[in-house]
Amino acid sequence: MKDTYLDLMSGPLGKVAKSLGLPQPVELQRFGSTPESYLRKPVLVLGSGPGAQRIADLLLDNDFEVRRHAAAGESLRAIIAVLDDVTTPEGLSETVLGVGQALRSLAKCGRVVTISTAPNPSEQDPALAATTQGLTGFTRSLAHEMRKGATANGILLGSGVPVDAPSVIAALWFLLSGKSAYVDGQFITVGDAAGTAVTDAEFLSTGQAGPLAGRTAVVTGAARGIGAEVARVLARDGAHLIGVDMPQAGQALAQVMNAVGGKSLQLDITADGAADAIAEAAGGRVDILVHNAGITRDKLLANMDASRWESVIAVNIASQARINARLFEQGRFAEGAQVVSLASTSGIAGNRGQTNYATSKAGVIGLTAASAGDFAALGGTANAVAPGFIETDMTAAMPALTRQVARRLSSLQQGGLPVDVAETIAFLASASARGINGQTLRVCGQNMVGA
Ligand code: NAD
Repeated sequence: MKDTYLDLMSGPLGKVAKSLGLPQPVELQRFGSTPESYLRKPVLVLGSGPGAQRIADLLLDNDFEVRRHAAAGESLRAIIAVLDDVTTPEGLSETVLGVGQALRSLAKCGRVVTISTAPNPSEQDPALAATTQGLTGFTRSLAHEMRKGATANGILLGSGVPVDAPSVIAALWFLLSGKSAYVDGQFITVGDAAGTAVTDAEFLSTGQAGPLAGRTAVVTGAARGIGAEVARVLARDGAHLIGVDMPQAGQALAQVMNAVGGKSLQLDITADGAADAIAEAAGGRVDILVHNAGITRDKLLANMDASRWESVIAVNIASQARINARLFEQGRFAEGAQVVSLASTSGIAGNRGQTNYATSKAGVIGLTAASAGDFAALGGTANAVAPGFIETDMTAAMPALTRQVARRLSSLQQGGLPVDVAETIAFLASASARGINGQTLRVCGQNMVGA
């Protein structure tokens, strides 16, 4: 569904909105449509430890223009603050105030990325715990202050993970690129040094020898919406696609699969034998599985009937658990298999009228965290994405006023597009992201409802 307000803000009415203090969303620069002039702008790397220098060197090696000090009047593509060496709250001042001073130089749709040590619940050093946890508050608050489509996100280093671990670099490339246009106020925790080094093809997604080449990806609910876009992006990155959807959606599914050179599997994922049918369609081995199919059957709990409750649980969570278990049992997950599941911000914050849906989506977050160990044993990963308001048929069904309000209630003041979710899934399904496991990454423009 078209966001007419966003279109109007791109014209002369944008100035009127500013004077009236109305929301002023800007069109986001997404991967593929980002102008060269923006990509050539310098990146400022702040921080006084060896980690900051290592990141600056890596950026230089990859043909970025790099600055270690802000120069007056120079427009910046990104500010990266490397704070992994800071151990006391007082030690944060120099770098974070440096970020503040450089903010006015940040280009439209620019990026701030903080790189710091992940808070550790069993940390014994109170000052260190205060520093690492404190920084999460810093990055989240800064994201709320960003303007003109710019975002702020953090990369958190697990115990013993160096700043140049493959998944740290993969996460940094993702956050600097237009692929993360709608990811804002979030953290990507790199738990270990697993993962292959990011290649140029991966960073640039040139198509040929793409990062997912030679891998078979199964996407459920691929006939439309987010699933159809996930199929397109994974195919762009080189994967061979198997699209799954209900028999009623067979025609739409065939169209999507024809466009990406993939194979259709008409299947209700709640059916007995769904996992076996998926394994067979994938030629016996699944490399990538995107549990995307999902439904809503909204009602206040007082009016909830059994069929609404049970159908949402069956499609959105029970089928995912059952399919994973069966594929494991039959040895159908390939070495290094990567699963990405669709959660939702409703599963994090809760949502009126969605007790069934929020239960299922919070369930996805739990299932993902609990599955990490089994996938790690295969050299793979299980992660989830939690979209906020995304422009699809699902959200087009919302009442018009609710839809307008929902769009503005994020730091980016607009809904996301299916491609924003798809790019995040492609990143989490890539071999370079194998150091990221058991996590849920929000793609919500820093949605301000609930948590
Ligand atoms: P959509 O309704 O447009 O598409 C869902 C697809 O899943 C449809 O093609 C449908 O036929 C298929 N499907 C439903 N039940 C199935 C079953 N039993 N077996 C096989 N296929 C089935 O939805 P969407 O907006 O593209 O959402 C995709 C996923 O993202 C869902 O899991 C949804 O909960 C989640 N999500 C969406 C949003 C959003 O704003 N659109 C936000 C948060 C989470």
